[in-house]
This record gives sequence, structure tokens and C-alpha cells, in this order.
Amino acid sequence: MEKKEMLYEGKAKKVYSTEDPNYLIVSYKDDATAFNGQKKGQITGKGIVNNTMSNIIFGMLEERGIPTHFVEQISETDTLVRAVKILPLEVIIRNVAAGSFSKRYGVPEGSELAKTVLEFSYKNDELGDPLINDDHILALELATVEELDTVRGYAFMINDALREFFLTKGLKLIDFKIEFGKCLVGDDDDEAGDIILADEISPDTCRLWDVKTGEKMDKDRFRRDLGNVEETYQEVMARMKK
Ligand code: UDP
Repeated sequence: MEKKEMLYEGKAKKVYSTEDPNYLIVSYKDDATAFNGQKKGQITGKGIVNNTMSNIIFGMLEERGIPTHFVEQISETDTLVRAVKILPLEVIIRNVAAGSFSKRYGVPEGSELAKTVLEFSYKNDELGDPLINDDHILALELATVEELDTVRGYAFMINDALREFFLTKGLKLIDFKIEFGKCLVGDDDDEAGDIILADEISPDTCRLWDVKTGEKMDKDRFRRDLGNVEETYQEVMARMKK
């Protein structure tokens, strides 16, 4: 299938319609933003890395029974996906304290957590993606009880699968963000209304620390000006392919 019309341009991806309304093409960009768009830049090659890595991971998750929007890779930066209605929630899983969790609760980055944490943010740039709880989500009718149960179940399954997968690549999964969508219509695998994993899983959306050196191998290199940004994205992609 081919790109028809650009429907949406986000911070890191563009979304195009195709001749079939049930399928979209996402095109990954090299643009990088941080701190809700306040810091802007380019990471050369990031579009290729994030497209390649996301597709490898979504394929692995599908094999483990987690439904995703992935259909097929079209080019180095472009992928055909199922069209879904994205739930306006960022689902964050934390295995180790870092980032906003460390700041908010005053725990040093790298502290092990007594329990894996699932957190929701309300996807809303104007409000700065505020932290939100289950009651808030139901009160605002952002999702139903059943949908929340499904999302929670998938999120922990995805965490188990990712942790194991990244460890085989010498990477420790500190935390990550995922997004889910609702299928518009049914197909061979899903019915209309089913919740499936959408968006991406990449160094932009995960914190990954090298198992041996503890080095940060993710977007924190860009956010915090740690240097070797491009090289690190390439290294992560190379490990994914091994
Ligand atoms: N994250 C993301 N998009 C966002 C916010 C967070 O992909 O808009 C990811 C981030 O890369 C990290 C995890 O979610 O892996 C937890 O991020 P955190 O809440 O600590 O926010 P940050 O420190 O990135 O502001």
C-alpha cells in the first residue's frame, strides 16, 4: 500500500492515509523533542533506528500473544499499521527509579523499586501530560473499567517480555512508555473495539542502561546533553539485529 494524504504530523512521526481506511502508514522522523517540546533537535538516523527497533519488538510481542498495530515494514523509515483510535493515555512502567519518578518522590536514579510501578499520564500537550489515576480516567471517560483492566494486563506482560528480550542484548530496562488503541473494525485477528498495542517502542520511549557499564543507551543522551547521541541509537539498533 502507498501513502495518500498526510493526516497528522507529530513530534517524531508523520501519519498517512492509504487506499484502505483500516490501514495507515507511519513515517518516523529524525526530529527529537524533550521536556514537552521545549527542547528541539535532530538525531540523524533516529527515524530508521526507531522504525526498525519498534518493528522487531512488535514482532516479538506478537509471537508472545500480545496484539499490536504492526502489519509490515514498507521502507527503512515507514511502516504499515492497523488504524486505531488511540486511548489518550501514556502507560508508563517502571522497574527502577529514574526521571520524573525520582524527581517527584525524591529517590536517587537507579534505586531498585520494591514493586514494579504502572503509571498513567493523560495525553494532553496543553496540560503537559499530567499524571492521572484510575478514578480520574473513569471520571473523565477516557477508558472503561474493562479497557483499563486489559491495558494493565498487557502492560505487565509487555514488561516481562521486554525485560527478558533487552537482557539478551546486554540492556537493562529501567522504564518505558507505551500507548494503546482501539480497533476501528475487525480483521482476521481482532474485533472492532479490541485494545491493541500501538505507537512505538524505541530508545525514545524506553530507558535502557548497559548491563556492564551502566551507561545510558536512550533518549536521555539527548535530553541531558550526554553526547554520542547518534552513535548510541546506532549501537542499540545493532544489538536489536543480533
Ligand atoms: N516517556 C515517553 N514520552 C513521554 C514521557 C515519558 O516516551 O512523553 C518515557 C521516557 O522515555 C521514560 C518513561 O517514559 O522511558 C518514563 O518517563 P518519565 O516519566 O520519567 O519522564 P521524563 O523523565 O522522560 O520526563
